[in-house]
Amino acid sequence: MKVTVIGTGYLGATHAAAMAEIGHDVLGIDIDADKVARLNQGHVPFFEPGLPELLQRHVVSGRLRFTTSFAEVGDFGDVHFVCVGTPQRAGENAADLRYVDAAIEALVGVARPGSIVVGKSTVPAGTAVKAATRVESVGAELVWNPEFLREGFAVQDTLHPDRIVMGVSADRAEKVMREVYEPIIAAGTPVIVTDFATAELVKVAANAFLATKISFINAMAEVCEATGADVTELAHALSYDERIGGKFLHAGLGFGGGCLPKDIRAFIARAEELGVDQAVMFLKEIDAINLRRRARMVDLARELCDGSLAGVRVGVLGAAFKPNSDDIRDSPALDVAVAIQRAGAAVRVYDPEAMSNARRDFPTLAYAESAVDACRDADIVLHLTEWAEFRTMAPERLGAVVRHRKIVDGRNALDAERWRAEGWLYRALGRQ
Ligand code: NAD
Repeated sequence: MKVTVIGTGYLGATHAAAMAEIGHDVLGIDIDADKVARLNQGHVPFFEPGLPELLQRHVVSGRLRFTTSFAEVGDFGDVHFVCVGTPQRAGENAADLRYVDAAIEALVGVARPGSIVVGKSTVPAGTAVKAATRVESVGAELVWNPEFLREGFAVQDTLHPDRIVMGVSADRAEKVMREVYEPIIAAGTPVIVTDFATAELVKVAANAFLATKISFINAMAEVCEATGADVTELAHALSYDERIGGKFLHAGLGFGGGCLPKDIRAFIARAEELGVDQAVMFLKEIDAINLRRRARMVDLARELCDGSLAGVRVGVLGAAFKPNSDDIRDSPALDVAVAIQRAGAAVRVYDPEAMSNARRDFPTLAYAESAVDACRDADIVLHLTEWAEFRTMAPERLGAVVRHRKIVDGRNALDAERWRAEGWLYRALGRQ
């Protein structure tokens, strides 16, 4: 089939390459001409394991190309996937829908009658029904098909999703979508066909649940800190209960990135508009617990530096919001690095992949070319993003370059015994 992808960021570029992989002819469009030029040369403008190989394969095969022309998109496509951003509105909790609105309007101007417009962006409930009116005005049909991919596993998650959710208002749209995803459905992926509002809510509710699970264990970490208990042992013991499970029960610096924080805030804002704010009031506390972990990290570092960070040299390991990504949107690591610097410390940051994004958005922080360089002469080391490179690092390697062997493990991911055996003062969130 002939498929287009509107917005070729983390979601759209991956989706475009994956659609080519399952046999479609794909045209991606973005308003960022530089991004389009790089994608056409087979270069992924961000870090995502496995995506460069997939993209290159299909750019070379001719099955995947990119443009900045909506006229071309309208001529080309039978099915148009809308993958543009829905960031938090400045100064508010609500989602900024201007990119979705612009993409829908642009498609309305060019889409052929009978074509299908598929919303994949994460949106507040009620967005699709409005978009459908616009799309139907030119004889096209709308489907809302939220995306659940995880950065770092985006290719795998797109080609082998754990479910496909589609909100539809007509049988034909469902039939076309089943054709689009035929190889994925044939592999046994469950398909949930529902109405627009439920489809929109599945995504938002999933993120609210995941955020709740993370903040739950981080709330327990606060209690552990006050009682002398160990949150990692607590989580381990809880995980054997099948009703609870161990996933997303990892205490640490909390969640960040371009999805969870803004999605729970947008959910709160939309619930307020709908008059059901009490139903999701707990999400305010989920957000607050999450942000308190960042403050606690700064306090713990200060505590280990005799009550003041002024003039202290701090080596920061990690800038991305999570490992295997270069995404720094709402990154807890960079939030902490900035707060520590504001408290008077001299901070040097290293991340395996997120350095250029971090330099661009936080030009006043200092950066190093390696973990060892970031920690040279450091009075304290902060482990803030759990990259494998940091998890497996020999404590003696850093021990040889730091001024004081003090480390705060913000991700509870290092082997405490090993670091202590090398003479480090090791502290972590939620443990003694
Ligand atoms: P992103 O910022 O990386 O990408 C958005 C892209 O859309 C940008 O390249 C931008 O230039 C482009 N764009 C904006 N307006 C456009 C327009 N009118 N026409 C064409 N292109 C336009 O964002 P992202 O992380 O890919 O997220 C996109 C959506 O997917 C969001 O709603 C997000 O919540 C959702 N989502 C993201 C992920 C993820 O892990 N990143 C996972 C699931 C869902």
